[in-house]
Parts: sequence; C-alpha cells; structure tokens
Amino acid sequence: MKTGTGKLAIDGGKPARCKPLPPNYPGALMMGEEEASRAAEVIRARSPFRFYGPDVRGTGFELEEMMEKTLGMPYVLGVTSGTAALMVAMKALGIGYGDKVVCPAVTFLATATAIVCCNAVPVFADVDDSLNMDAKDLERVVDDEVRAIIVVPIVGVPVNMDPIMEFASRRNIAVIEDVAQSCGVRYKGRYAGTIGDVGTYSFQMNKILTAGEGGAVATRRLDVFDRAIRFHDQGLVRAGFRERYGITSTDDTAAFAGQNYRMSEITAAVLAEQWRKMPALLASTRANYDRLRDGLRAQIPSIVFRGSPDPAGDIGCTLGIVLPSAEAAQRFNAATAAENIGTFLLYGGKPVFTNPCFMHKRSADRGPFPWDFPFKNPVEYRVGMCPTAENLTPRTTFLPVSHSLTNADVAEIVDGLAKVWRGLEIG
Ligand SMILES: *Cc1c(COP(=O)(O)O)cnc(C)c1O
Repeated sequence: MKTGTGKLAIDGGKPARCKPLPPNYPGALMMGEEEASRAAEVIRARSPFRFYGPDVRGTGFELEEMMEKTLGMPYVLGVTSGTAALMVAMKALGIGYGDKVVCPAVTFLATATAIVCCNAVPVFADVDDSLNMDAKDLERVVDDEVRAIIVVPIVGVPVNMDPIMEFASRRNIAVIEDVAQSCGVRYKGRYAGTIGDVGTYSFQMNKILTAGEGGAVATRRLDVFDRAIRFHDQGLVRAGFRERYGITSTDDTAAFAGQNYRMSEITAAVLAEQWRKMPALLASTRANYDRLRDGLRAQIPSIVFRGSPDPAGDIGCTLGIVLPSAEAAQRFNAATAAENIGTFLLYGGKPVFTNPCFMHKRSADRGPFPWDFPFKNPVEYRVGMCPTAENLTPRTTFLPVSHSLTNADVAEIVDGLAKVWRGLEIG
C-alpha cells in the first residue's frame, strides 16, 4: 500500500494515529523509583534544607558535583528555577540599572523579563535560519551601553557560538547561555552552557530534566561564582561553599544585599537521579529525531527543516519544519491535530518582544523604570525590527519528539505528516 495518502482526518478521514503523542515532559516521564527513593531519603532524614538539619545528606553538593563532572565546569550552583538562574547570572556579572542586555527575538518570556527584573533594559537581536541569535545582527544592536549578551539554544538546536564569542570578546561584553530548553545540546563538541561566561539551566516541568521546578548556574570564573553564591543566599557565602571551593572573600568587603534562590535538598535529590538518566534519555530522543527526519525527507522531498549551525549537536527534542507561509502553518497544525500528531508554533508564532510588557515598557516598578535611565541611545521596540524572526516564527511548526516513540509511532507520524502535506498541497 502506498503510504502517506488518504483522506485527512480534519475532513472526516481516519486519523493517522489513534491516540495523541506522548506529552512533552521528557524528564517527568522518565521518573521512577530512583527519584522516589532519593527524595524519601531526604524526608526520612528530616533534612530538606541544604545547610542544616538533623541529618543533612549533602544532596545539593552531590548534584552540583555531578553537573560539574559532566559539563567539565569547575563551578555549578543549584538554584530554584531557570528564571532565578538568569537573575543570579546577571547579578553575579554586576548587571543592573543603566545597563542594556541583548537577547534573541525568539525565546521564552523569562529570558527577557529576567533582564527587566534585574533593572536592566533588553535589546533584541534577530535570529538566523536556526531561529537562534544571528551574530550578524549584533553590530546593529550593540552599543557601548550593552553589558551582556544572552544566547538561547531554542528547543534543542545549538547557537552558532563562534562569531558571537568573537564579537563579545572583541567588545569586552559578557555572554550568558540560557540553555533552559536544551540541556545536553552541543556546539562543535562542547556542551551549550559551557562556552560563554555563565550557563543557566532550568529543571521546570517542560524541560529535558525536571524536578517540577529548579535551575542551575555554571561558570568557569571564580569571581562570578562567588557573587552568584552571594546573590542566591542573601549576600552570604556559607562555610560549605568556602571549604569546597576555597572561597576567601570576606563579608566585610564582599557581602551585598542578595535574595533567596537556594535549592532544596528534595529538589536536588530528584535532579541527581534525573541527571544520571540524561545520557539514555538524549540517546533515544536523538535516535527518534533522526528516524523522523530521514522518514519525512524520503516521503516529502521538498520539505524544509529548521537550520542548525551544527546538526551533530542537536538534541532532537523537537523537529522544526518551515512552511511556505503563516497561513499554511495554521492549516498544517489544525490538520495534524486531527491526525493526533499535534505540531505547534513556538510562543504562538510571535517574537518575544511583541509581548505587551515590552511594547509598553512595563516592569513591576513605578513609571517607565528601568527604561527611564538617561541612555545615550534610548531603546525602542517596534514591529519590523527583527525581520527574520518575524518572518520565520509564524511559519515554523514544531513536532515534539519523545524518547519513548516506538518504530510504529515513528512510521505513523511520518505517514500522517506526509498525508497532511499532500492533502493540503503544501510546497
Ligand atoms: C523555561 C525557560 C526559562 C525559565 O525557566 P523556569 O525554570 O521556568 O524559571 C528561561 N529561559 C528559557 C529559554 C526557557 O525556556
């Protein structure tokens, strides 16, 4: 029988699959007895706080050490969320009122809102065909009021880091890698999050690994790590960190007003077990991604996939397909939903700066703070300022790729998408 043909489910035909795709919670779906027993150990010890209690297990330090080993980074700090990690990273770099920070036009709200909550002003750079930051746009958006660049490997594809690092070091600007969505992505063999000055991780429910909530900061710079520890814990460095990392700064000269973004031992216990499962999780996700991509290419020779600056480093948690128009993408997603395949647009197909909080320059503070700083070049946002992002986001559809797909699932997805492609006469 010829595959990838037949009446579309949206027109009353038989759906390609009889049930929806597995939900997009890879880490949570991998949870088992390992996480349960480690969390129970913390609770039985009645010591859910990492710095004191009747019988502290030291699970926070264990997680940080595992991450340091895998990532090849000297300093990792567990925090409460990916947003907290961004705040800690920026405050560790000394960013605040009067500073500008560049972030990509395509990212989750948190990257840009964290900049505002640090009292700095976001500046948006356009993306390339990978939907990640395009170094070529930095010349246009960076002036001498920019203190940092945050890059974001969006849903599993690396950022083209070489030209960004080259630009940043030439201009003496810090680079933060927000790898919330892409733990395990590599660029030229190096893990995303280990290339810039600071890498930030999220362990929220939708991310690759999860404890429901959680995050981490990684850096090679002891000066940044010292300030990160202090900002995440009310300006202090506790004895545990001092001993472990040989930190000698004194509160008298180095303490400042910080916050509480400390990770709990229960979160760390769950994440230590999730971290152990990462290689297996990533290997099966990537294998399914390759089979889906190869299958789709064979069935739909004209298909265009989202670009990647280093396809070997993709983790493969989603497969981006570029459609000819926004209208075609809408029709495609409606039709795939009916087939129980469920492709989707990222963030409603809108670049992040089009959110009202940026367009209207609203923080939680009074008036136009922090945009009211007397910058030499005031920052303005307008539709049309990042044309590639505005062109690609409404017409790039994403297929979630689960580690748990069977051969039969892969075949059904490929056939179903080919059927929709032909039925809608796309490309
Ligand atoms: C999810 C996410 C964050 C925020 O992580 P939380 O743990 O939810 O605070 C930051 N940046 C990106 C790109 C994300 O996808």
